[in-house]
This record gives sequence, structure tokens and C-alpha cells, in this order.
Amino acid sequence: MAISDAYEAVIGLEVHTQLLTRSKIFCGCANEFGAAPNHNVCPVCMGMPGVLPVFNRRVLELTIRVGLATHSQISERSIFARKNYFYPDLPKGYQISQYERPLCVGGYIELPTGNGAPRRIQLARIHLEEDAGKNIHRPTASLVDFNRSGTPLLEIVSEPELRSAEEATAYLRELRSILRYLEVSDGNMEEGSFRCDANVSVRPCGATELGAKTEIKNLNSFKFVEKAIKHEIERQTAVLKAGGKIMQETHLWDPERGETRPMRSKEYAHDYRYFPEPDLPELYVPPELVEQIRAQAPEVPAARRARYARDLSLSAYEIDVLTQEREVGDYFEAMVAAGIETKAAANWTMTEVLRASNESTETFSNAVPPPAQTAALLKLVAQNEISLNAAKTAFAAMCKSGQDAATTVKALGLAQVSDEATISQVCDQVLSAEADKVAQFHAGREKLFGFFVGQVVKAMKGNANPKVVNEVLKRKLAMAGRPSPSDLPSSGA
Ligand SMILES: [Zn+2]
Repeated sequence: MAISDAYEAVIGLEVHTQLLTRSKIFCGCANEFGAAPNHNVCPVCMGMPGVLPVFNRRVLELTIRVGLATHSQISERSIFARKNYFYPDLPKGYQISQYERPLCVGGYIELPTGNGAPRRIQLARIHLEEDAGKNIHRPTASLVDFNRSGTPLLEIVSEPELRSAEEATAYLRELRSILRYLEVSDGNMEEGSFRCDANVSVRPCGATELGAKTEIKNLNSFKFVEKAIKHEIERQTAVLKAGGKIMQETHLWDPERGETRPMRSKEYAHDYRYFPEPDLPELYVPPELVEQIRAQAPEVPAARRARYARDLSLSAYEIDVLTQEREVGDYFEAMVAAGIETKAAANWTMTEVLRASNESTETFSNAVPPPAQTAALLKLVAQNEISLNAAKTAFAAMCKSGQDAATTVKALGLAQVSDEATISQVCDQVLSAEADKVAQFHAGREKLFGFFVGQVVKAMKGNANPKVVNEVLKRKLAMAGRPSPSDLPSSGA
């Protein structure tokens, strides 16, 4: 990091995430990405006069799930407010949001730090709001698509406790992982269902007051978040070192130029004139509902990491890779439950399974065979019926065909030959075809042994059990090394 030792960065993140509900937050329109423009709309989400919002209960349940997973306090009573501003994609002229009394207060997220104690980042609040529509600018006209208008948004605000661009990215990854584990959000940054604004300031080390901050918007990938924050820390440090002053501004990240640039002041100097939303009553959360959701809460990544560290002998790196996505950890666990040894199941999941899933455009569960079939395949390796390489070939084929392990191994002729008589025959053929090399071997070029093994394996199309090949070849070469009767000096001549 280019930041000088004399300064430290102070970073807080505001994350907006779209909730995976079937309908929007205040009306019954479908909450889906990619529909034809203005297909999922009604008078409520288009802001027609005289309509009334009705709160979606599912939104409440999902938000409480996130609040509990992040150790937040769930407010028994919270309120919706109107955040007033004018923009073409906001036909009501205000956004319904939670301002003074959000649904979740406080809490924290723990970041893994390898083998050390996790780093705890405090949260300020988690609140609910409705999303706006989307402006589409064309050369000849600007259009508005209201499909997104009124989709439920969760805003998760961290305290300014992050100290580097890398830490900010680690926080975002962990938060995204939590939301995906909880099945609350798909966390898709490209489609805008997981968006981030970063507040960045720099101050002299040891200072307790916060410096003037820059808010960076438009960060739609992990890479951009890291680059933009790094750039902003360097920019502010240079200004402070030169004796300058940081202005409180909103910046946009420009990925093409790799820098942040200020937005015109008109675009951020809002006075939102918040006031309580008169069309919605106070939101009351009965304690029984919180307890009911707590009882059904899925495991979160931190809990799974702790469980693996306690119960399984895996490295911190392996635990990290296996727990980032819930379905990957589930897959690994299903293989272990099917009788595959922990380390073998972990290795296979981290290499073959993740590779197949990354190379596929399908969802994870469609890209790879069911874990029981992969376990059946690995059992064939453990029983010496196929080689590890053959298993990799079979696995790749199973990902595409959907056929089971036994059928695939048979269809591809991958069964390993351990039968000594068959292997012995091939060894004899190879040794007689390579008679000159056999002579060199006996003259002392012992590394030719590997060559003979390779020739036998090749002749058997990779299906020979290498252990048996080694044994048979050793025996034969030792025999061939002994002088044969015709080489013995004739006696009594
Ligand atoms: Zn609607």
C-alpha cells in the first residue's frame, strides 16, 4: 500500500442489496431481473396518485434473518420515512426508506484472518428501503424502466472501521457470502443486486477525529472497489502531505481511466426533508417472530468455518475455499457423509468440482454431478479399480453427460488393470522391443526404469495399475540382469 506510515485510512461501506422476494416491497408486482421494460409495474410502484403501499411480510422475515446473522439488535418498533428528492426514475418524488428508527441496529461481521482471531467490523445499522426505477439514456431520448421501482432493498452500513482497500474487499466478500448463505440475496454485482458506496478519509496516525471524507459511488465489482479505494487513499494522502485540505465530496469511479472524479455539487447537495411516511403504520416486530426466525436460521459462513476448524483437520486456506459458497461446503460435506475421507473430499471439491463449476455457465448444482455420484467415483479410486487420472477423465465426462460413475467408467474403458498375468505380458513386449535400452539399464543407466514404466502404462492406455507395473518390471529387470546360461563360459573345453 502506497499510504505513508504517517497516515491511516478510515473506510466505511454502505452496501445496498436486493432481496430475493417473489414480489416487490409495497405491491404485488413480480421482483425479477431481466423482464421486458415496464412489464412488472402497477399504479403503486409507478407512483400514481391515490394508491397506498402494503408492506411485504417476506421482506421483514429476510431482513430479520440478516440482522440475526450479523448479531444486530432487532428493533421491536421501527418506522418508514419519506426521503424526498426529484428524479425521473422516482415518480412519487420520494423514496420510502427507514431513517430515524431502522429495523436492525449495531451488530458486527467477523472477517477470517487465517489462523488468528477473526477481525471484527462493527455495523451501524441495517435498514429497509424501496429501489428506484432505471433511467436509460439513448442518443436521441432518455427512457425510464420502472421494473426495478419498488423492489426491496436492504442497506447495510458499517462503522468506519476498515483500514485498507484489501480489508474493505474482504468485508464485502464476507457480507456477500453471508447474504448468499441466508438465501436473502443472490449478491450479483453485475446485475446490481449487490452495490457498494465507500466513504474514505485519511488522517494522521494516532488521531481520533475523522478527516473529511469522500463518498465513492458506482462500484460494481470487487476489483473496482479495491482499486477505487486504493486510488482515493493515495490521492488524499498526497493532498494532505502537500499541506492541502480534503473537500467533502461525492466521487464517481471511472473504471476506464482508473481514477475517481468529483460529481458536480448539484448532484449531491440534497436536502431530503425526511419525515415519517403517513401511509404506513409503525412496523411492529413481535419477539416470537424473531425467535421463530432464529430457530430456522441457516448456518452462516463464520459458524461453518469454526465448525470445520474444530472438527476437521483442514488448513485455514482449505477451510476458506470450502466455505465461501454454501453449496460448495454442502457438496464437500455430502461427499464426506458418503464415506470419502475428509482430505480426499476436500481436495477433489477444491480442484475438480470448482473447476467444472467455474468453466460452466450452468448453476453449481447443474454443472457438477450429485455428490453421491462423485463419492462413488472416488471409491473406485480407493479400491484401485481406476487410477486418479482416470477418475478425473470420468468426472469431466459425468459433468457433461449426467451419467453415473460406474456407467461412465465402463463406457470410457477406464477400469484399471491390476491383473498380473496381463501386465506381465505387456512388460515382456516392451522389454523385448526396447532391448538396447535394457542393455543400457544393466550398464548402469538406472533412470531408464521410469521410461519402461511409462511405456507399459502407455501400451495399456493409462489403465494399468502403476503399483503392479512397478513390481512386475522390477522383477523382470532383475531377472534379465542375471547372466543367462548361454553367457556362462563353457566348461571343460
Ligand atoms: Zn407494482
